[in-house]
Amino acid sequence: MCQRYPRRKFIYKLFPVSVALLNLGWLIGGCNSEESTREIQNNYELKDTIGSCNDLSSVSQPEIAKRKTYGYVTESLYPNNLCSNCNLYKPPASDNDCGGCILFEGPVYASGYCNHWEPLA
Ligand code: SF4
Repeated sequence: MCQRYPRRKFIYKLFPVSVALLNLGWLIGGCNSEESTREIQNNYELKDTIGSCNDLSSVSQPEIAKRKTYGYVTESLYPNNLCSNCNLYKPPASDNDCGGCILFEGPVYASGYCNHWEPLA
């Protein structure tokens, strides 16, 4: 005996399950992106407590232009190529200071990078 399952009944039963699954996906995705944002924010806050190495108020415009020309960024995209392990890096005098670079004036983050990175000699 073949009993047909009514389509409408099937949709009514499937709908709450679909909504629950969508909400679960949204919650998981939402939490992850919120966590990433918080992590990035914490990194910036940590850098602020070390002392801002973004303060270029005492750096001349030509020197600021140089760091832009070299493509300096405060966070390297290459985990093994950082200012801290670059041959041209000038390490900070103390834990509360910023580092520097031989190529241009002004503060440099140890986590930074530019397209003139060269391995330690
Ligand atoms: Fe950083 Fe580039 Fe200077 Fe090397 S040359 S210390 S990577 S800014």
